[in-house]
Amino acid sequence: MNTLLGPLQSLQNQLKVISDAEVDWKTIVVTFSLGVYFLETYLLLRQYPLYNKTAPPPALATTFTPEVFDKSQKYGKDKARFALFSSTFNQILEIAVIYFDLQVWAWSAAGALLNKYGYTGYEARCLHTMNIPQSIIFVTILLLSNTVSTLPLSLYQTFVLEEKHGFNKMTIGLFIVDTLKGWALGFVIGSPVLAAFLWIIRWAGDSFIPWLMSFLIAFQLIMALATRLKFPLTDLYVIDGSKRSAHSNAYFYGLPWSKHIVIYDTLIKQSEPGEIEAVLAHELGHWSYSHPLKLLIVSQLHLFLLLSAFPPFLKSSPLVASFGYPPSVSKNPPTLVAFMLFQMILTPLEAIFGLAMNALSRQFEWEADRFALELGHGSSPEDMDAHAKGSENSGDMGERLARALIGLHAENLSTVWVDWLYSAYHHSHPTLTERLKAMDEYRAKVKIGYVSKKDL
Ligand SMILES: [Zn+2]
Repeated sequence: MNTLLGPLQSLQNQLKVISDAEVDWKTIVVTFSLGVYFLETYLLLRQYPLYNKTAPPPALATTFTPEVFDKSQKYGKDKARFALFSSTFNQILEIAVIYFDLQVWAWSAAGALLNKYGYTGYEARCLHTMNIPQSIIFVTILLLSNTVSTLPLSLYQTFVLEEKHGFNKMTIGLFIVDTLKGWALGFVIGSPVLAAFLWIIRWAGDSFIPWLMSFLIAFQLIMALATRLKFPLTDLYVIDGSKRSAHSNAYFYGLPWSKHIVIYDTLIKQSEPGEIEAVLAHELGHWSYSHPLKLLIVSQLHLFLLLSAFPPFLKSSPLVASFGYPPSVSKNPPTLVAFMLFQMILTPLEAIFGLAMNALSRQFEWEADRFALELGHGSSPEDMDAHAKGSENSGDMGERLARALIGLHAENLSTVWVDWLYSAYHHSHPTLTERLKAMDEYRAKVKIGYVSKKDL
């Protein structure tokens, strides 16, 4: 344990020096935020010209019809334009919130609201006891104002963009109900969690990390169990995705003792049984390699590192003061305010972490594809023969998985020309052409006996 705690302690000591110094955090955070914005815009501009290509990649030439390809290019272009506009809009919003000290306003508004309803003297007398309700109101104000200001974008995306390309199945009524439900659920689940988060840090002091980690892990398990209880009968769910959107998908999630494969009804409707079998084989690959558990461990490790770097900033008056909070607040920084500002400082690191997570997740996709192929490779000659006879279900697992993936891409009008850097940054899955190429290579190796039975 000491080998872990030693470096952690020295890291915290170093960070303490930084957090105590009079640093212009506001300028640093704005610079970081702009840096990430310009990087993402650059990536989008690398990707954008690919929407002008008039023919699909050679590997898809026979299967991606000109009509489908043309539609997918137009859809991709519209989405890219929308992404460019909305990221610029959100960036301006973010800078405005920082520049005009809107968070400071929200914090004092939350305090004033409490004051109005009888919680008088919250600043002096009850700084500690009133911190939690004030934090909950503060977050509610921030989230509500963010949802309202980005509402036109969400409406445009659902009812203009997705509608135009034939994917929207949402009505205005359903949209309003979904939004209100989201708010209500977020408040009902979010506020107690936030309260517990703040209470644990206050109660445990500087040694809050193990307590907070235990709480957050327990919370995640409860959420996983709650989802489990919602569908108690089977481990293979068919989700009615078609009620809201016509996009298709399948995915695997779960913990070692509770595993689920989810298939959208839209995928089942559009695919042949042999193709669904291949998709299931891929999802079983995720299961067999315990991919969800591995991702869970990595994300907990990430959380642990994040929380470990936080204590030096927990009581950093210069940090809070540099964002325009009055001395009455900054001399004893509210935990939530310090935590939010701390997260803003981490923006570039989080972008790098996202990149690493995508790389890992891509690795898992290769493994799952390969698992499916090996499963097909291992089937008996009789099975192969049966498949060959069953007309549209014919082909080995690789061919069927390839057909299913191409079908999914065609059905979702997914972009098939993807810039590698753009994809590495944004996508958790390898591109379609990369996956097809890898599958072809594997099958070629099997044919010449490169992969022996013991590799399976
Ligand atoms: Zn997968």
